[in-house]
Order: sequence, then structure tokens, then C-alpha cells
Amino acid sequence: MSQQLLAELELILGKSSVLTSENETAPYLTDWRKRYSGKALAVLLPGNTEEVAAIVKACAKVHIAIVPQGGNTGFCGGATPDNSGQQVVLSLKRMNQIRAIDVSNQTILLEAGCILQVVQEQAVSEGFLFPLSLGAEGSCMIGGNLATNAGGTNVLRYGNTRDLCLGLEVVTAQGEIWDGLKGLRKDNTGYDLRDLFIGSEGTLGIITAAVMKLYPLPISQWTTLVATEDIPSTITLLNLFQKRATSLLTGFEMMTQESLALNEKHFPQMANPLKNHPPFSILIELSDHESEEHVRQLLESILEEALEMGIINDAVIASNLSQANAFWHMREHITLAQAAEGANLKHDITIPLSALDRFIQTTDRLMQKQYPGIRIINFGHLGDGNLHYNIAPPEGVDPISFNATNEKPIHELIYAQVESCGGSISAEHGVGQLKLGELRAHKGPVAHELMKTLKRALDPQNILNPHKVLSI
Ligand SMILES: Cc1cc2nc3c(=O)[nH]c(=O)nc-3n(C[C@H](O)[C@H](O)[C@H](O)COP(=O)(O)OP(=O)(O)OC[C@H]3O[C@@H](n4cnc5c(N)ncnc54)[C@H](O)[C@@H]3O)c2cc1C
Repeated sequence: MSQQLLAELELILGKSSVLTSENETAPYLTDWRKRYSGKALAVLLPGNTEEVAAIVKACAKVHIAIVPQGGNTGFCGGATPDNSGQQVVLSLKRMNQIRAIDVSNQTILLEAGCILQVVQEQAVSEGFLFPLSLGAEGSCMIGGNLATNAGGTNVLRYGNTRDLCLGLEVVTAQGEIWDGLKGLRKDNTGYDLRDLFIGSEGTLGIITAAVMKLYPLPISQWTTLVATEDIPSTITLLNLFQKRATSLLTGFEMMTQESLALNEKHFPQMANPLKNHPPFSILIELSDHESEEHVRQLLESILEEALEMGIINDAVIASNLSQANAFWHMREHITLAQAAEGANLKHDITIPLSALDRFIQTTDRLMQKQYPGIRIINFGHLGDGNLHYNIAPPEGVDPISFNATNEKPIHELIYAQVESCGGSISAEHGVGQLKLGELRAHKGPVAHELMKTLKRALDPQNILNPHKVLSI
């Protein structure tokens, strides 16, 4: 049966786009964190939407499951097949055409396999900003960003991927093509199918193309690094920037002393320019459409006010683009420093800002009591209440054996605090297979059952990315 399917897939795609040898398939079978590994009957590389539809029809006929994959940078194992060797991985990487830029509509129509950085660069070359920005932008793809509803560093001003999307083209579990690419900003015609597919992590349909919003390019951007002592003063600082800079505030990232120490250990060139390794280093970006002078004066006057209020005690304004980039690299390298340090336990969570201090104080205390010497690498998109509350074992302890024993109770401890503070166990990375077990308790039985009802209705054979997000 498998041989018959492979022969049919080769007819649809051509032999060179059906990968079966170990060498060729290996890069698609392990996730970025090297936490999950699987096997696949084949890795398929369709070149257009019709080929995706034909693949789904062929697989549906023989009940073979399909795992969609973009850049394979996801953190939750959503793009990795299981170990049966009976699933196919469908990589969108060859579908990387920008089909059109509509200057009047301020939109870009593009295929799911476009790499995010290429889209950003293309937008700039046409005089626009495509604001989605994240550490993996050199390899993640727009289909993966949509399927995970990725966040990143510009959510504060422009929203997450869902907010940037005006339309989708999707291949359904039956191999039908839904063309929802009108790109309208208003369209109240019943259920919003677009929003259903966004964030569904390949479990409801395969995204093949999208219409995304473009924005005017800012004339000037100013970036500053600021030292704060604690979370309450950091939130007061955020509120001050929100009040004074309003929509000019495009970034507000928090890095703790511990996360920057790890950075400096693995990337010594990334020394923090703030004095005395402050408890919190805050990276703030303002973007302006008026003038350099306007935004610079505004930034200086807000920082002066913050100093007078006693909520910051040091600040460095980037004097040129390369220094601004160096500040952003510091922030982006924390994830890489953690990977270099060894396996860690990630918690991508959101906490209401009003409960953030309580969350951190209580969780830090409980963690240190339970696991003396544990290292808490806490950083994130603080402007959105999004923390990456990551855990590494005490210095000198082997992470693999530490995690094997302690992963479950650590997740439970942290997620219990998240729930008690009214937060979410997944802010922007999704559920995949990593958080499958926790989802029911987090969503509650009603929401969880509604999700299952939707999954059964749209994918009755359960062939689209089974056992990711939901097990049915
Ligand atoms: C260094 C680093 C920094 C990161 N920073 C951030 C960050 O700031 N914010 C953030 O949100 N994420 C971040 N991530 C996580 C990751 O980059 C995002 O989740 C990204 O959106 C995944 O895109 P991808 O193309 O790599 O998707 P993949 O990893 O290939 O897939 C992710 C999920 O989407 C599904 N999928 C992929 N393509 C499609 C499609 N066309 N149709 C249907 N389903 C599909 C897959 O089946 C899987 O379930 C980071 C990752 C790294 C490595």
C-alpha cells in the first residue's frame, strides 16, 4: 500500500520532489531544539497549491497522515512526524513566490513557503514595512508563522501574525482548495474561516498562500537600553512610554541579569553596555513617521521623566544603526545561548501585567525552595505580558538527567502559578506535541470539547497533523 502511494505521489510531484532516502529526509525529521525526532514514509516538496491538494487527496484515500512543515523552527514539536514511519511530511519550502504587492491596498500576496526575512526585505524594497519580526526570521516561513500565530518583538504596536493577515488560501483535509484571498479589511459574512486556520498548527488545513498587511516604513527608529531594579518599576516605565509615546512605542523587551550572564558566557562579544549588571535590562524601541529630531527629543524627555520618577537608574541610547542592532542581537541571542548551554525547560507564558510581579516572586521562590541552585532564565516581550520563563539545572548538573526526573513536576509547578495569576500556558509558540497533555486542564472541558468538535468536523479522518494540539 505504501509503495502504491509513493508511486502515485511521484506521478503528482515528480520523483525529485518525493524524498525517501535517510540522507535526504533527515533534516525534516528532527525539530529545531532536537527534542523530537520521528520517521516518515516520505518528505514531499510540492511546488504549487494544486499539487498540495492532489497530495492530500492521495493520502486521504489510504488514511495516511500529513505533517505540514515550514522552516522547522517551531518550539513545540508541531512539525515533527511520529515514530511510525507511516506519516508524510509536507514541506512548503518550494512554494516561495511573492505573487503580488498591492500598493493601494497596502497588502502583499505570498505563498506559504516564503521565508519571513525575504518578505520583510521585499516589503522594504517597495517602501513598506512588514512588521512581523522574530529571532528565527532567517529560516521560518510565513505559513509556519500563520499556523502558529507567531508573535515576536513588534506585537505591542502591530499585533501578532493573526492581526497582520487579511486572507488565506487553504487546502482542506478533503483536498479541496479554499480561496479566501480577497484581502478585505471588512467582511462580515458568517463564520471567520481565516481565523480558524490561523494558529491551528496544521491540524485543520494546509495554508498555501496568504494576503498580509503592509505598513508605511517609519522614517526614524531609536533604540535604548534601560536599567530597572524590579518588575513594578519596569511596568510603570512601560505605562509611561505607552502614555507619552503612544503608537510610536514599537518594542519593549525585558532581559534579566541571569539571561544576559548566559549570553555573555556563550557570546562574550555581547557585553551589556549598562553599568553593574542591573537586575533588569529593558530594550525599548520607538518608531516615528515625522522626523529623527522629533523621536529623539521625545525619547530623551521620557527617559528624563523616568529618571526623575526613580524608576530607572541607567540608560544608553543607541547612537547609530549598528549599535541599535547590537542591542537587538543581545536580546535575540538569549535563545541561542540557552541552546549552547544544553537542554532546558521552556515556558512560553503570558501573565496579565497586573499579576506579573506576584507571578515572578512566588514562582521564583517556590522553584528555589524545591530545586536549590536552579537557574531561571527569564526574559521576554514584556510589553505583551509574554515571558519566556525557562529553567536550566544547577551549574554542573547534567541537563538531560535533570530534565528526565524533574520536567513534569517543574511544568506543573509553573503552570499552576500561571493559572492562579490568570495567564496562558502558551503565549506565542503554540501547543504542538509539547503541551498536548496540559491543554485540556488549561482550556477547560467546554472549550476543549468545542475544539475537538471542530477538528472532527473539518478533518473526520484525523489525517492532518494528528496528535498535535489535540488527541482525538
Ligand atoms: C531562535 C528562535 C527564536 C524564536 N522566536 C520566536 C518569537 O519571538 N515569537 C514566536 O512566536 N516564535 C518564535 N520562535 C518559534 C518559531 O520560529 C515560530 O513558531 C515560527 O512561527 C514557526 O515557523 P516555521 O515556518 O518554522 O514553522 P514550523 O516549525 O515548520 O511549523 C510549526 C507548526 O506549524 C505547522 N505548519 C507549518 N507550515 C504550515 C502550513 N503552511 N500550513 C499549515 N500548517 C503549517 C506545522 O505543522 C507545525 O505544527 C523562535 C524560534 C527560534 C528558533
